[in-house]
Amino acid sequence: MLVRVNVTDTRDRPLRDLRVSVTDRCNFRCTYCMPRELFGPDHAFVPRDELLTFEEIARIVEAFARAGVTTVRLTGGEPLLRRDLTLLVRMLTAIPGVDDLAMTTNGALLQRVAGGLADAGLRRVTVSLDALDPDTFRRMSDTTTDVHVVLDALHAAKGAGLWPVKVNAVIRRGVNEDQVVPLARLGRDEGYVVRFIEYMDVGHTNGWRRDEVVAAAEVVDRVHAAFPLEPLAPRRDGETANRYRYLDGAGEIGVIASVTQPFCGACTRARLSPVGELFTCLFATRGTDLRAIVRNGEDDAFLDAAVEGVWQRRTDRYSELRTAATAGMPKVEMSYIGG
Ligand code: SAM
Ligand code: SF4
Ligand code: SF4
Repeated sequence: MLVRVNVTDTRDRPLRDLRVSVTDRCNFRCTYCMPRELFGPDHAFVPRDELLTFEEIARIVEAFARAGVTTVRLTGGEPLLRRDLTLLVRMLTAIPGVDDLAMTTNGALLQRVAGGLADAGLRRVTVSLDALDPDTFRRMSDTTTDVHVVLDALHAAKGAGLWPVKVNAVIRRGVNEDQVVPLARLGRDEGYVVRFIEYMDVGHTNGWRRDEVVAAAEVVDRVHAAFPLEPLAPRRDGETANRYRYLDGAGEIGVIASVTQPFCGACTRARLSPVGELFTCLFATRGTDLRAIVRNGEDDAFLDAAVEGVWQRRTDRYSELRTAATAGMPKVEMSYIGG
Protein backbone atom coordinates (compact mmCIF):
# COMPACT_ATOMS: atom_id res chain seq x y z
CA MET A 1 0.00 0.00 0.00
CA LEU A 2 1.23 3.47 -0.86
CA VAL A 3 1.96 5.75 2.10
CA ARG A 4 2.30 9.31 0.88
CA VAL A 5 4.30 11.84 2.87
CA ASN A 6 3.00 14.90 0.97
CA VAL A 7 6.11 16.97 1.47
CA THR A 8 6.00 20.77 0.99
CA ASP A 9 8.74 23.32 0.25
CA THR A 10 9.69 26.58 2.00
CA ARG A 11 6.83 28.36 0.23
CA ASP A 12 4.30 25.68 1.16
CA ARG A 13 4.18 24.22 -2.35
CA PRO A 14 3.53 20.46 -2.47
CA LEU A 15 5.41 18.11 -4.80
CA ARG A 16 2.91 16.83 -7.35
CA ASP A 17 4.48 16.61 -10.81
CA LEU A 18 7.65 14.99 -12.05
CA ARG A 19 9.21 15.44 -15.46
CA VAL A 20 11.55 12.64 -16.39
CA SER A 21 14.06 13.48 -19.10
CA VAL A 22 15.06 10.11 -20.56
CA THR A 23 17.74 11.40 -22.94
CA ASP A 24 19.57 14.61 -23.81
CA ARG A 25 19.70 13.64 -27.50
CA CYS A 26 17.32 14.94 -30.12
CA ASN A 27 16.65 14.48 -33.83
CA PHE A 28 15.61 18.14 -34.19
CA ARG A 29 17.69 21.25 -33.63
CA CYS A 30 15.03 23.79 -32.68
CA THR A 31 16.70 27.17 -32.76
CA TYR A 32 15.29 28.16 -29.37
CA CYS A 33 16.43 24.96 -27.66
CA MET A 34 19.38 23.19 -29.37
CA PRO A 35 20.85 25.57 -31.94
CA ARG A 36 22.91 23.57 -34.44
CA GLU A 37 25.99 25.79 -34.04
CA LEU A 38 26.21 24.62 -30.42
CA PHE A 39 24.76 21.12 -30.71
CA GLY A 40 26.78 20.03 -33.75
CA PRO A 41 28.39 16.69 -34.61
CA ASP A 42 31.07 17.20 -31.93
CA HIS A 43 28.66 17.90 -29.10
CA ALA A 44 29.33 15.66 -26.09
CA PHE A 45 26.03 14.04 -25.21
CA VAL A 46 25.69 11.92 -22.07
CA PRO A 47 27.45 8.54 -22.58
CA ARG A 48 24.91 5.71 -22.63
CA ASP A 49 26.22 3.97 -19.51
CA GLU A 50 25.64 7.15 -17.54
CA LEU A 51 21.95 7.29 -18.43
CA LEU A 52 19.60 6.00 -15.78
CA THR A 53 18.36 2.51 -16.67
CA PHE A 54 14.61 1.96 -16.80
CA GLU A 55 14.83 0.07 -13.49
CA GLU A 56 16.64 3.01 -11.90
CA ILE A 57 14.07 5.48 -13.27
CA ALA A 58 11.23 3.34 -11.91
CA ARG A 59 12.83 3.09 -8.48
CA ILE A 60 13.30 6.86 -8.30
CA VAL A 61 9.74 7.53 -9.54
CA GLU A 62 8.45 5.25 -6.75
CA ALA A 63 10.20 7.49 -4.23
CA PHE A 64 8.61 10.57 -5.81
CA ALA A 65 5.18 8.93 -5.65
CA ARG A 66 5.71 8.36 -1.93
CA ALA A 67 6.60 12.06 -1.59
CA GLY A 68 3.35 13.16 -3.23
CA VAL A 69 3.84 13.00 -7.01
CA THR A 70 0.75 11.91 -8.94
CA THR A 71 1.60 13.04 -12.47
CA VAL A 72 4.67 11.95 -14.42
CA ARG A 73 5.67 13.25 -17.83
CA LEU A 74 8.35 11.72 -20.04
CA THR A 75 10.43 14.26 -21.91
CA GLY A 76 13.96 14.92 -23.13
CA GLY A 77 15.70 15.67 -25.52
CA GLU A 78 13.45 13.59 -27.66
CA PRO A 79 12.03 10.79 -25.50
CA LEU A 80 11.22 8.57 -28.48
CA LEU A 81 14.93 8.27 -29.26
CA ARG A 82 15.22 6.11 -26.15
CA ARG A 83 14.93 2.49 -27.29
CA ASP A 84 11.99 0.40 -25.98
CA LEU A 85 10.34 3.34 -24.28
CA THR A 86 7.11 1.32 -24.12
CA LEU A 87 8.79 -0.88 -21.51
CA LEU A 88 9.43 2.14 -19.31
CA VAL A 89 5.83 3.27 -19.78
CA ARG A 90 4.64 -0.14 -18.61
CA MET A 91 6.90 0.02 -15.55
CA LEU A 92 5.84 3.52 -14.57
CA THR A 93 2.10 2.97 -14.95
CA ALA A 94 2.39 0.04 -12.53
CA ILE A 95 3.70 2.33 -9.76
CA PRO A 96 1.09 2.94 -7.02
CA GLY A 97 0.20 6.65 -6.84
CA VAL A 98 1.17 7.50 -10.44
CA ASP A 99 -2.31 8.36 -11.70
CA ASP A 100 -1.34 10.09 -14.89
CA LEU A 101 1.54 9.35 -17.25
CA ALA A 102 2.08 11.68 -20.21
CA MET A 103 4.82 12.43 -22.71
CA THR A 104 6.08 15.49 -24.58
CA THR A 105 7.55 14.70 -28.00
CA ASN A 106 8.41 16.42 -31.26
CA GLY A 107 6.26 13.81 -32.99
CA ALA A 108 8.79 12.77 -35.65
CA LEU A 109 8.83 9.15 -34.46
CA LEU A 110 5.42 8.97 -32.84
CA GLN A 111 3.15 7.67 -35.59
CA ARG A 112 4.34 4.05 -35.50
CA VAL A 113 4.49 3.74 -31.71
CA ALA A 114 1.41 5.69 -30.59
CA GLY A 115 -0.78 2.56 -30.33
CA GLY A 116 1.87 0.59 -28.41
CA LEU A 117 2.43 3.44 -25.98
CA ALA A 118 -1.29 3.73 -25.32
CA ASP A 119 -1.55 -0.04 -24.79
CA ALA A 120 1.33 0.16 -22.32
CA GLY A 121 -0.58 2.73 -20.26
CA LEU A 122 0.48 6.13 -21.54
CA ARG A 123 -2.50 8.40 -21.00
CA ARG A 124 -1.76 11.60 -22.89
CA VAL A 125 0.69 13.10 -25.30
CA THR A 126 1.80 16.63 -26.05
CA VAL A 127 3.31 17.15 -29.48
CA SER A 128 5.46 20.21 -30.12
CA LEU A 129 4.58 21.96 -33.36
CA ASP A 130 5.52 25.59 -33.92
CA ALA A 131 4.17 26.15 -37.43
CA LEU A 132 1.94 24.64 -40.09
CA ASP A 133 3.69 26.46 -42.90
CA PRO A 134 6.36 23.95 -44.05
CA ASP A 135 9.16 26.52 -44.43
CA THR A 136 8.51 28.17 -41.08
CA PHE A 137 8.31 24.74 -39.44
CA ARG A 138 11.67 23.74 -40.91
CA ARG A 139 13.22 27.04 -39.89
CA MET A 140 11.98 26.82 -36.29
CA SER A 141 12.85 23.16 -35.77
CA ASP A 142 15.89 23.02 -38.07
CA THR A 143 14.98 19.54 -39.28
CA THR A 144 14.50 17.73 -42.58
CA THR A 145 11.37 16.07 -41.19
CA ASP A 146 8.33 17.30 -43.06
CA VAL A 147 5.59 19.01 -41.08
CA HIS A 148 3.14 16.40 -42.41
CA VAL A 149 4.97 13.71 -40.46
CA VAL A 150 4.09 15.57 -37.27
CA LEU A 151 0.51 16.14 -38.41
CA ASP A 152 0.17 12.40 -39.15
CA ALA A 153 1.59 11.65 -35.69
CA LEU A 154 -1.07 13.87 -34.12
CA HIS A 155 -3.73 11.86 -35.96
CA ALA A 156 -2.15 8.61 -34.83
CA ALA A 157 -2.15 9.80 -31.21
CA LYS A 158 -5.81 10.74 -31.48
CA GLY A 159 -6.61 7.35 -33.05
CA ALA A 160 -4.76 5.58 -30.24
CA GLY A 161 -6.83 7.37 -27.59
CA LEU A 162 -3.95 9.45 -26.19
CA TRP A 163 -6.54 12.09 -25.45
CA PRO A 164 -6.77 15.01 -25.20
CA VAL A 165 -3.90 15.52 -27.62
CA LYS A 166 -2.11 18.75 -26.83
CA VAL A 167 0.04 20.79 -29.20
CA ASN A 168 2.84 22.96 -27.80
CA ALA A 169 3.88 25.95 -29.89
CA VAL A 170 6.67 28.33 -28.91
CA ILE A 171 6.00 31.71 -30.52
CA ARG A 172 8.99 33.81 -31.41
CA ARG A 173 8.76 37.40 -32.64
CA GLY A 174 9.60 37.80 -36.31
CA VAL A 175 9.69 34.04 -36.89
CA ASN A 176 6.31 32.39 -36.39
CA GLU A 177 3.80 34.80 -34.89
CA ASP A 178 1.88 34.55 -38.20
CA GLN A 179 1.29 30.85 -37.34
CA VAL A 180 -0.80 31.57 -34.24
CA VAL A 181 -4.14 31.65 -36.02
CA PRO A 182 -3.41 28.67 -38.35
CA LEU A 183 -2.37 26.60 -35.30
CA ALA A 184 -5.52 27.68 -33.44
CA ARG A 185 -7.56 26.64 -36.49
CA LEU A 186 -5.88 23.21 -36.50
CA GLY A 187 -6.85 22.77 -32.87
CA ARG A 188 -10.45 23.75 -33.54
CA ASP A 189 -10.73 21.45 -36.56
CA GLU A 190 -9.14 18.39 -34.92
CA GLY A 191 -10.03 18.86 -31.27
CA TYR A 192 -6.41 19.34 -30.14
CA VAL A 193 -5.72 21.67 -27.22
CA VAL A 194 -3.14 24.09 -28.61
CA ARG A 195 -0.91 25.69 -25.97
CA PHE A 196 1.11 28.73 -26.92
CA ILE A 197 4.33 29.07 -24.94
CA GLU A 198 6.25 32.26 -24.38
CA TYR A 199 9.82 31.97 -25.58
CA MET A 200 11.93 31.47 -22.45
CA ASP A 201 15.51 32.21 -21.46
CA VAL A 202 16.28 28.60 -20.56
CA GLY A 203 19.87 27.43 -20.74
CA HIS A 204 22.62 29.50 -22.30
CA THR A 205 22.69 28.49 -25.88
CA ASN A 206 19.60 29.99 -27.46
CA GLY A 207 20.75 33.63 -27.32
CA TRP A 208 17.43 34.67 -25.76
CA ARG A 209 16.33 38.26 -26.16
CA ARG A 210 13.33 39.72 -24.39
CA ASP A 211 12.18 41.49 -27.55
CA GLU A 212 11.72 38.11 -29.23
CA VAL A 213 9.11 37.09 -26.66
CA VAL A 214 5.56 37.34 -27.94
CA ALA A 215 3.48 37.96 -24.82
CA ALA A 216 0.68 35.50 -24.12
CA ALA A 217 -1.77 38.42 -24.01
CA GLU A 218 -0.90 39.25 -27.62
CA VAL A 219 -1.39 35.62 -28.64
CA VAL A 220 -4.81 35.59 -26.99
CA ASP A 221 -5.74 38.84 -28.80
CA ARG A 222 -4.70 37.36 -32.14
CA VAL A 223 -6.72 34.19 -31.64
CA HIS A 224 -9.68 36.11 -30.19
CA ALA A 225 -9.80 38.38 -33.27
CA ALA A 226 -10.18 35.31 -35.49
CA PHE A 227 -12.22 33.05 -33.18
CA PRO A 228 -13.71 34.79 -30.10
CA LEU A 229 -12.60 33.42 -26.72
CA GLU A 230 -13.46 33.69 -23.03
CA PRO A 231 -11.23 32.79 -20.05
CA LEU A 232 -11.72 29.51 -18.17
CA ALA A 233 -11.09 28.97 -14.46
CA PRO A 234 -8.06 26.82 -13.56
CA ARG A 235 -8.89 23.16 -12.96
CA ARG A 236 -6.26 22.57 -10.32
CA ASP A 237 -3.44 24.24 -8.41
CA GLY A 238 -0.13 24.31 -10.21
CA GLU A 239 -1.67 24.52 -13.68
CA THR A 240 0.89 26.22 -15.90
CA ALA A 241 -1.43 27.23 -18.74
CA ASN A 242 -4.07 29.96 -18.60
CA ARG A 243 -7.01 28.44 -20.43
CA TYR A 244 -9.55 30.03 -22.78
CA ARG A 245 -12.57 28.49 -24.50
CA TYR A 246 -13.99 29.35 -27.89
CA LEU A 247 -17.36 31.05 -27.57
CA ASP A 248 -18.74 28.86 -30.35
CA GLY A 249 -17.88 25.71 -28.38
CA ALA A 250 -15.05 24.56 -30.67
CA GLY A 251 -12.70 23.65 -27.81
CA GLU A 252 -10.04 25.56 -25.88
CA ILE A 253 -6.51 26.91 -26.00
CA GLY A 254 -3.90 27.48 -23.32
CA VAL A 255 -1.20 30.10 -23.01
CA ILE A 256 1.90 29.55 -20.91
CA ALA A 257 3.01 33.00 -19.87
CA SER A 258 6.16 32.07 -17.99
CA VAL A 259 7.88 35.34 -18.86
CA THR A 260 5.09 37.93 -18.63
CA GLN A 261 2.96 36.30 -15.87
CA PRO A 262 5.19 33.99 -13.80
CA PHE A 263 3.43 31.21 -11.91
CA CYS A 264 6.17 30.16 -9.45
CA GLY A 265 3.78 30.52 -6.51
CA ALA A 266 1.88 27.45 -7.69
CA CYS A 267 4.81 25.46 -9.10
CA THR A 268 4.63 21.89 -7.84
CA ARG A 269 7.03 20.41 -10.38
CA ALA A 270 10.33 18.57 -10.03
CA ARG A 271 12.60 17.42 -12.84
CA LEU A 272 14.80 14.35 -13.16
CA SER A 273 17.72 14.59 -15.60
CA PRO A 274 18.85 11.71 -17.85
CA VAL A 275 21.64 10.90 -15.37
CA GLY A 276 19.44 11.05 -12.31
CA GLU A 277 19.91 14.58 -10.99
CA LEU A 278 16.92 16.10 -9.27
CA PHE A 279 16.26 19.72 -10.27
CA THR A 280 13.63 21.75 -8.45
CA CYS A 281 13.34 24.49 -11.08
CA LEU A 282 13.60 24.76 -14.86
CA PHE A 283 16.19 27.46 -14.27
CA ALA A 284 18.17 25.64 -11.61
CA THR A 285 21.93 25.82 -11.58
CA ARG A 286 22.61 22.55 -9.79
CA GLY A 287 20.86 19.25 -9.31
CA THR A 288 21.04 16.61 -6.58
CA ASP A 289 22.54 13.28 -7.62
CA LEU A 290 19.94 10.57 -6.99
CA ARG A 291 21.70 8.07 -9.26
CA ALA A 292 24.58 7.84 -6.81
CA ILE A 293 22.12 6.88 -4.08
CA VAL A 294 20.57 4.19 -6.24
CA ARG A 295 23.88 2.85 -7.60
CA ASN A 296 25.46 2.81 -4.13
CA GLY A 297 22.78 0.37 -3.02
CA GLU A 298 21.14 2.63 -0.44
CA ASP A 299 17.68 1.57 0.76
CA ASP A 300 14.32 3.24 0.05
CA ALA A 301 14.31 5.13 3.34
CA PHE A 302 17.60 6.81 2.37
CA LEU A 303 16.30 7.67 -1.10
CA ASP A 304 13.02 9.02 0.31
CA ALA A 305 14.88 11.19 2.81
CA ALA A 306 17.00 12.65 0.00
CA VAL A 307 13.96 13.50 -2.17
CA GLU A 308 12.01 14.92 0.77
CA GLY A 309 14.97 16.92 2.04
CA VAL A 310 15.63 18.55 -1.32
CA TRP A 311 11.98 19.52 -1.70
CA GLN A 312 11.67 20.81 1.87
CA ARG A 313 14.65 23.12 1.26
CA ARG A 314 13.30 24.35 -2.09
CA THR A 315 13.08 28.15 -2.47
CA ASP A 316 12.94 28.50 -6.30
CA ARG A 317 11.01 31.29 -7.97
CA TYR A 318 13.23 32.22 -10.88
CA SER A 319 10.51 33.53 -13.19
CA GLU A 320 9.21 35.89 -10.52
CA LEU A 321 12.71 37.26 -10.03
CA ARG A 322 13.74 37.33 -13.71
CA THR A 323 15.85 40.45 -14.19
CA ALA A 324 18.92 41.48 -16.10
CA ALA A 325 20.96 39.95 -13.27
CA THR A 326 19.33 36.51 -13.43
CA ALA A 327 19.78 36.39 -17.20
CA GLY A 328 23.51 35.88 -16.73
CA MET A 329 23.24 33.15 -14.08
CA PRO A 330 24.46 29.64 -14.90
CA LYS A 331 21.55 27.41 -15.92
CA VAL A 332 20.95 23.93 -17.21
CA GLU A 333 19.90 23.40 -20.85
CA MET A 334 16.23 22.72 -21.67
CA SER A 335 17.17 19.78 -23.92
CA TYR A 336 18.86 18.17 -20.89
CA ILE A 337 16.29 18.79 -18.20
CA GLY A 338 13.11 18.64 -20.35
CA GLY A 339 10.50 21.35 -20.85
N1 SAM B 1 11.71 17.05 -27.68
C1 SAM B 1 10.43 17.09 -27.08
C2 SAM B 1 9.59 18.20 -27.66
O1 SAM B 1 10.13 19.10 -28.30
O2 SAM B 1 8.38 18.14 -27.46
C3 SAM B 1 10.46 17.19 -25.56
C4 SAM B 1 11.50 18.08 -24.94
S1 SAM B 1 11.32 19.82 -25.28
C5 SAM B 1 12.69 20.49 -24.37
C6 SAM B 1 9.87 20.19 -24.30
C7 SAM B 1 9.18 21.49 -24.63
O3 SAM B 1 10.03 22.56 -24.34
C8 SAM B 1 8.80 21.66 -26.10
O4 SAM B 1 7.42 21.85 -26.23
C9 SAM B 1 9.56 22.88 -26.52
O5 SAM B 1 8.85 23.64 -27.47
C10 SAM B 1 9.76 23.62 -25.23
N2 SAM B 1 10.89 24.55 -25.27
C11 SAM B 1 12.17 24.28 -25.59
N3 SAM B 1 12.93 25.41 -25.52
C12 SAM B 1 12.09 26.41 -25.15
C13 SAM B 1 12.26 27.81 -24.92
N4 SAM B 1 13.44 28.41 -25.04
N5 SAM B 1 11.17 28.52 -24.53
C14 SAM B 1 9.97 27.93 -24.39
N6 SAM B 1 9.74 26.62 -24.60
C15 SAM B 1 10.79 25.87 -24.98
FE1 SF4 C 1 14.55 18.71 -29.56
FE2 SF4 C 1 12.35 19.29 -28.26
FE3 SF4 C 1 14.50 20.83 -27.97
FE4 SF4 C 1 13.20 20.86 -30.28
S1 SF4 C 1 12.38 21.51 -28.31
S2 SF4 C 1 15.41 20.67 -30.02
S3 SF4 C 1 12.49 18.80 -30.43
S4 SF4 C 1 14.33 18.75 -27.32
FE1 SF4 D 1 8.66 26.63 -11.26
FE2 SF4 D 1 11.14 27.56 -11.50
FE3 SF4 D 1 9.37 27.89 -13.50
FE4 SF4 D 1 9.11 29.29 -11.22
S1 SF4 D 1 10.79 29.45 -12.68
S2 SF4 D 1 7.46 28.21 -12.33
S3 SF4 D 1 9.82 27.76 -9.70
S4 SF4 D 1 10.18 25.93 -12.74
